[in-house]
Order: sequence, then C-alpha cells, then structure tokens
Amino acid sequence: MPTQDVTAYLSELLESVRDLDRGAPHDLPVHAEADPDLLAVAIVDVDGQVWSAGDTEQLFPIQSMSKPAVYGQAIEDVGLAEVLRHVDVEPSGDAFNRISLDEESNRPDNPMINAGALVAHSLVRGPHADDRFERIRQLHSRMAGRDLAMDQDCYAQEMERGDRNLGIAHMVRALSVLPDDPHDVVDGYSRQCALEVSTVELARIGATLATGGLVPGSDERALHLKATQQVLSVMLTCGMYDSAGDWVSTVGIPAKSGISGGIFGAVPGRCGIATYSPRLDGHGTSVRGELAFRQLSADLGLHVLRPRQPQG
Ligand code: GLU
Repeated sequence: MPTQDVTAYLSELLESVRDLDRGAPHDLPVHAEADPDLLAVAIVDVDGQVWSAGDTEQLFPIQSMSKPAVYGQAIEDVGLAEVLRHVDVEPSGDAFNRISLDEESNRPDNPMINAGALVAHSLVRGPHADDRFERIRQLHSRMAGRDLAMDQDCYAQEMERGDRNLGIAHMVRALSVLPDDPHDVVDGYSRQCALEVSTVELARIGATLATGGLVPGSDERALHLKATQQVLSVMLTCGMYDSAGDWVSTVGIPAKSGISGGIFGAVPGRCGIATYSPRLDGHGTSVRGELAFRQLSADLGLHVLRPRQPQG
C-alpha cells in the first residue's frame, strides 16, 4: 500500500474504535489521571519506515511492555539455559500479579507475569542495581530510537504500592533463586516499568524484535537473533495477561500489553505495531487497542499462523 493509503487506513481504523468507551484506566494515579480518550496507533516496518495516526506523540509509562526486552537481555547476559533454570515458559492463565510459583519446580511460570519478570530483571548483569537499570534503559532507548527517561511519579507510585511485588520477590527468594536483594529488584523493576515511550517508539521496539534484534533500518544490533526468537515465542504464548489464548486465536501476533493502556506487537520479518488507549478490560488489556489489533491483523493478513495453500 502507498504511504498515504496506510496513513489514511490507520486514521479510519482509529475512528472505527474511537467511540468505544468500555473499561476504565488502571487506578495507579499516573494512569487514572491520564486522559482516557487518548488514542494512537503506529506501524514501523523492518526498514524503519513509520506510519501512524492519532495521539502518537503522547508519552506514557511502558509498564509490563518492558518485560520482553528485559527477558531478552537476561538471555544474552547469562544464557538461555540459565534463564530457563530460573523461569519457565508455560502460559499460566493467571493474573499477571498472582503470587505463585510452580509447585514442583518453584519457578515462575513465565517471564511475562511479575514473578518471572522480577527474576528476569535480577538476571540482567549489573553488578549493582543502578547499573542493571541503566543497561535496561539503554537497551530500550536503542530499540525505541531515543534516549528514554523515567516518569518519576509513576516510579514513586509503583514503589508506594510495591507491597505485592515485594511479596512476590521475597517468595521467589525464599523458595527459589533470586540473585539479588528483593528490595533492589523491585526498585529496579519499578524504574524499568516507569520508562516513558510514545506509541511510535513502542512500535519501533516491536519492529526491532520483528527484525530479529536489529534496530530497524540500521546495522545496529539491540538483541541477538536467538534471544529475540525466544522473546517472541514467549510473547505469543504468554504476552497478553490471562487472555493469551484468546489473543493468539483472534489476533495471532506476538504481543505484550501494559496497564498504561499500550499494546505492542511484532510480526516477524515484517513490522512492529503499537496502540495506545488507557481504558482497560478486566484482564488489564486496552479495550480499543485490542479491537484495533484484531482489525489490523485481519485487514493486513498479519496472523502469524495464517495457513497458506501450497503453491503449484
Ligand atoms: N508495574 C506494574 C506491576 O508490576 C506493571 C503491570 C503491567 O503493566 O502489567 O504491577
């Protein structure tokens, strides 16, 4: 499709979901106070070309959408086998902040729920908590194409309400392996979640995963191919909170949502996609974002498991 056609298509797509006002923003003040009508969509292809519509300059905390890249960084730092020793790759069907570990192995089910994400964060090479966060910030900055900063209010509010994540971190430390102090891990993880991105930057992070780890349109490598493949696999099976199965069958794009109202996906070899709309459904996924993704996937034939007739 020519560029103007794609842009017009994206504007129409937003109009088709704009009036849907089901759901509510997350109650963390920084999200609850955001304008619930904000709406944006962006596509970045593997060459770095950008198409977007709506409030694409609006910044918002990346929240759980930081989990995929941090998992990738942990794999690069300590190796996949070591990461798997600490965190499994099984969809849990549980809410993202469930305080639970696998009964037999004592491992978190996957790195997209908080227990697994806290462990993945702690496996990123430091040596100290500050160095670990700085490496995570730099990784996201490379993928997003801008030097990202943290939303201080979001970080402070997350820490104020950090009891649940602290509880999870202490449980992991008690029953399994958490290579660092639970307070430091929750502090670093909360900073990771508070990194601010725009919808276009989020789509660019998706596009970097879609290329196998190369920053779109450049030779700069953010993650290695093998780590990226592992990240995409886990996004496909576990990325959408406790509605991952529904997402795979209706959208079919490896993706991750966050409580700020963002969703980003990666179509391998093709593009990164992101949406932003703060009202969430009962699973914590953006209502209008999910609908836009469904529509996009159907209209542009992006379902990664789309059967193809053998040629000839
Ligand atoms: N910082 C949030 C938490 O850990 C992230 C949740 C999310 O976006 O899913 O509770």
